[in-house]
Amino acid sequence: MSEFTNGSTSGFITITGARENNLQDVTLRIPKGRLTVFTGVSGSGKSSVVFDTIAVESQRQLNETFTWFVRNRLPKYERPHADALEDLSPAIVVDQRPIGGHSRSTVGTMTDVYSVLRVLFSRHGTPSAGPATAYSFNDPSGMCPGCDGLGRKVQAAWDRILDPARSLADGAILFPPFAAGTWQGQTYTNTTGVDVHKPVGEFTAAEREFLMRGRGATVNVDNTGGSRDIAYEGLADRFERLYLKRDLSALSEKTRDLVERFVVEDTCPDCRGARLNPAALATRIDGLSIADCTRMQVTDLIAVLKRIDDPVALPVAGAAVAALERIEAIGLGYLSLDRETSTLSGGEGQRLKTVRHLGSSLTGMTYIFDEPSVGLHPRDVGRLGDLLLRLRDKGNTVLVVEHDPDVIRLADHVVDMGPRAGAHGGRVVFEGTPDALAAADTPTGRCLGRRTTVKRRPRTATGGLWVKGAGRHNLRDVTVEFPTGVLTAVTGVAGSGKSTLVAELTAAHPDAVVVDQSSIGISARSTPATYLGIMDTVRKVFARETGAEPGLFSFNSAGACGTCGGRGIIYTDLAFMDPVTTTCHDCEGRRFREEVLRLTVGGSSIADVLGMTAGQALDFFTDKGVRRRLHALRDVGLGYLTLGQPLSTLSGGERQRIKLATRLHRTGAVYVLDEPTTGLHMSDVDGLLALLDRLVDTGNTVVVVEHNLDVVAHADWVVDLGPDGGRDGGRVIFEGTPARLLTARGSSTAEHLRRATA
Ligand code: ADP
Ligand code: ADP
Ligand code: ZN
Ligand code: ZN
Repeated sequence: MSEFTNGSTSGFITITGARENNLQDVTLRIPKGRLTVFTGVSGSGKSSVVFDTIAVESQRQLNETFTWFVRNRLPKYERPHADALEDLSPAIVVDQRPIGGHSRSTVGTMTDVYSVLRVLFSRHGTPSAGPATAYSFNDPSGMCPGCDGLGRKVQAAWDRILDPARSLADGAILFPPFAAGTWQGQTYTNTTGVDVHKPVGEFTAAEREFLMRGRGATVNVDNTGGSRDIAYEGLADRFERLYLKRDLSALSEKTRDLVERFVVEDTCPDCRGARLNPAALATRIDGLSIADCTRMQVTDLIAVLKRIDDPVALPVAGAAVAALERIEAIGLGYLSLDRETSTLSGGEGQRLKTVRHLGSSLTGMTYIFDEPSVGLHPRDVGRLGDLLLRLRDKGNTVLVVEHDPDVIRLADHVVDMGPRAGAHGGRVVFEGTPDALAAADTPTGRCLGRRTTVKRRPRTATGGLWVKGAGRHNLRDVTVEFPTGVLTAVTGVAGSGKSTLVAELTAAHPDAVVVDQSSIGISARSTPATYLGIMDTVRKVFARETGAEPGLFSFNSAGACGTCGGRGIIYTDLAFMDPVTTTCHDCEGRRFREEVLRLTVGGSSIADVLGMTAGQALDFFTDKGVRRRLHALRDVGLGYLTLGQPLSTLSGGERQRIKLATRLHRTGAVYVLDEPTTGLHMSDVDGLLALLDRLVDTGNTVVVVEHNLDVVAHADWVVDLGPDGGRDGGRVIFEGTPARLLTARGSSTAEHLRRATA
């Protein structure tokens, strides 16, 4: 391994002869302590350099420094394909993978601000509930006993269980096991504690209390052995005892299905969603409980904590303010600390992870970011840039994969990959400053200097889809019309309410085709070929031409490599870490058995075909259906994917586009896309716009949530939300054509569009 060890330390990370994925013998020197941005069309090899080569080797070398005992418990990284990698530093990857999303993880806990608040309340709040764990909703000493600190609880749905218009004798109880005429129902039809002939909706508070929680009374019921007196049990008490206070999974499936129709998961009535017990909630600072603090948005909490002037509390309050200001600086001031991390978007999660690293005092690290501008309005990209520069100025090397021209311009050094995707890429086509790149004749250089032009002849709407009185999250009674038969861009700064508004649109018009970046419910064996549904035809072609059974050509079948089960990789699940994958040594990643690989069509084995890109496969297949699907893949800009590439390796943007590829060819539909330019190079945006135009021109309505100003300028109609995020957003501040948006006042989108077209 001598060629991989650290030689003399220099001011550069040096890569020699890198050949991971499509890389063609890439040799590079990356300046340390600087901000380097990697550019290039999607599929050109940016991630292959940054993630699959630099990050992997850095992690692998770090692991080698541990003892054998520890190493055996760490993920095994395969050495990247490269001749040499020198002078690496420990790498931290800040990506957009969803943050581990259990309901006990909140913005406050993941950024550690919540633990600072706990110290503040335990030391300086009155009365104090004890040490800092007494304020933790994840600790028995602090959690609300009613909901175990979850803030939510499964409860009886009384509006479904009781019919207020009826009396108890006349069947007011709708829950079958307690209904009038049943054995248990006699408790409520025979009781003398309330008037069983009065509609329950007219009960006084005391009567209702008796019905639900009454104690100490007896009631005469008929039993098989004759009539007898039994103790009365309130309806709520009985329902909770039989169905809520026990493990629902212990009930029979039939009972569970029945009960599920009469319960709702709702805010815990004991803590009202605050997750903490009464002692913790009683503690106040400035009249506010710790739950009041976590409920407000970060910008408001900063103001509250800044009012604290007690000199003893000041250092702790100051630490909390510093951490909160980092959240605000990254454009997330509209979040509240009690927000569950599972509800954050990928971009929001990535920025929160950055906040954590900004607070750390590590230097000499390599920080690696994957398209950090995702989800950011041009206004907020500036703040993001400041953060990246701050990380650099702490003595770190910052590597960023990015398409946004504003981020590219911030770089000390740019590495432009290309010239195109897949086999036509994998080379460094430019290295140098952003200014020099703008003058360079590469796809990125050519786009960097260009101006946006606003559409002058927008299409006319064929009708309208209304969202009326929307009030979810931060929306302020929004009523807006989305024109049909045109391309509409929904714009606004992060947190202004775009996703929420679009979700209301799709809820009101359920036949909308939503194409988002969420995972596509796929197995480890899914590939573009299986996802597009062309594998059947591929197998038939191979069977027809070779005379073998079609089943042999499936990697879930007898034809599959026995060692890896047709996965091509060996997957090791590590209970406490990310799973690790290594290439199968038997089939060398080709997934099939030797005798299957010997069967060829036109000189290509099934593994060769799965190794073709969609573009190459178009030269191979004559089948119409297959060709139509391959064309769709190329149309959405994914022609560089190979047919057999595991879908699990796709980025969010690629996932979104492959979904789109399977949903084209409709008419009269409403397509809703969330930031479709994610992961797209500036030169690929034109292709995407052409595709959206085609969708509209074939009779569809297209609504995109987008920050990319080329897309905004190209839209027929713009709905701009704002003016800011969170509490200060949620209003429609502009509706109209992009040409009119240019003259709008008080809109950040208008301001940036003016700049881009100037
Ligand atoms: P970029 O980051 O510039 O979009 P990538 O480095 O992700 O490009 O991809 C470069 C090429 O390598 C593409 O053709 C892509 O399909 C291929 N590729 C990337 N990851 C894998 C993988 N895990 N397995 C096989 N091919 C891959
Ligand atoms: P945008 O799409 O413009 O970035 P969102 O619609 O995601 O904005 O968010 C608008 C507001 O609603 C923000 O204050 C955000 O914190 C809040 N919000 C969004 N999703 C949730 C959620 N699942 N739970 C609570 N608040 C949310
Ligand atoms: Zn509770
Ligand atoms: Zn194998």
